[in-house]
Amino acid sequence: ALTDKLTRLVKEMRGQARITETNVQDMLREVRMALLEADVALPVVRDFIARVKEKALGQEVLGSLKPGQTLVSIVNRELAATMGEGVADINLAAQPPAVILMAGLQGAGKTTTTAKLAKHLIEKRKKKVLTVSGDVYRPAAIEQLKTVTKQAGAEWFPSTPDQKPLDIAHAALDYAKKHYFDVLLVDTAGRLAIDEALMKEIKDLHAALNPVETLFVVDAMQGQDAINTAKAFKEALPLTGIVLTKLDGDSRGGAALSVRQITGAPIKFAGVSEKLDGLEVFDAERHAGRILGMGDIVALVEQVTAGVDMEAAQKLAAKVKSGDGFDLNDFLSQIQQMKQMGGLSSLMDKLPSQLTAKAGALDMDKAEKDIKRKEGIIQSMTPLERRKPELIKATRKKRIANGAGVHVQEVNRLLKEFEQMQGMMKKMKGGGLMKMMKKMGG
Ligand code: GDP
Ligand code: MG
Repeated sequence: ALTDKLTRLVKEMRGQARITETNVQDMLREVRMALLEADVALPVVRDFIARVKEKALGQEVLGSLKPGQTLVSIVNRELAATMGEGVADINLAAQPPAVILMAGLQGAGKTTTTAKLAKHLIEKRKKKVLTVSGDVYRPAAIEQLKTVTKQAGAEWFPSTPDQKPLDIAHAALDYAKKHYFDVLLVDTAGRLAIDEALMKEIKDLHAALNPVETLFVVDAMQGQDAINTAKAFKEALPLTGIVLTKLDGDSRGGAALSVRQITGAPIKFAGVSEKLDGLEVFDAERHAGRILGMGDIVALVEQVTAGVDMEAAQKLAAKVKSGDGFDLNDFLSQIQQMKQMGGLSSLMDKLPSQLTAKAGALDMDKAEKDIKRKEGIIQSMTPLERRKPELIKATRKKRIANGAGVHVQEVNRLLKEFEQMQGMMKKMKGGGLMKMMKKMGG
């Protein structure tokens, strides 16, 4: 429905051919709100807005795009560029063993990420990997690393709480050299807040180990505070990369922008689950869409206008706007429009990442067959059921499943998906950027 609303807005937009001081003010205010809502730190927001304004002012509106869209595309590109520049895999260009030092607050996800990285380096880069824990303060921290290291298929170097972190580091490094490990991952003690003694400890570890990568692990749910944490770690250590964890949560992940800007280090990976395969190469463009609360809308607008039944789209858009409930008929028409737009896969790329993350590692072929089945299920419902999905209880579900030739579980799944979509639509309705685009068209 986001797409349908946009379709209508595109049609409505008339007139203004360039971005001017007057029309840019309102829009930038909305962008600012969107960034603050995503928990980007205030000073970072100010900076960012200033840069966008400079880029936007006087810019000719590209091709068929109208000012609102052009600004959104500038914002999106600038966000992606800010977060994405220089992104690369783990650097292992060092005399083996290449040492990777993990730094960050307690609970940020250092230990989990250590194991995820071990798995990544073993499976994708075919490396021989050793891990060691320097966390002698938290009970069970060393055991935790041992467990997840085994799960990752790497080797764990023993340490005990009565040892000094520096001694542990030296011993592990010696062992790694003697046994020809390619990589030594050093997990460290977390800090609850910035703590002088612990900061000195990790500085000493850095000096002793001379790591090729010093990774700052930061929780994406950390809001405005991320900026202070990042500052402290940047002052203490020459950070070479950032891992943004817990991106599977609800946060819009504004911390990415703050931390990137403050440290200047590239965001290399994103943690997307507690499990060890929940590590992804950070995708700046997709993340820009997430921060703004939507995907790459300019590209989407183009795709939608090219492929969609305008009349159906407008009806749906009007409905969303008037606040009428989004029902299963709308859901069906959405499903059918996806088919029209030539494949799910291309569309998925452009949807807000909150939504695509839910879809997970979707097999696209399977997904397209899935669309057909969903159509079948909704078509087995009565008009009343489609308008009032809350009526669909056990007996109705059974009848619908029989009609569509599927299991009841599939009906349940469809209803759940529908609810998620409905939730998304509610959020979108209040979306500042949408309002802004409309104003521009005004
Ligand atoms: P540390 O104190 O920095 O070593 O943090 P841990 O690695 O012990 O992680 C703290 C908690 O966050 C644990 O419960 C982890 O399972 C969880 N966690 C870490 N990374 C992620 C992630 O990417 N997604 C989710 N959902 N949970 C994570
Ligand atoms: Mg830990």
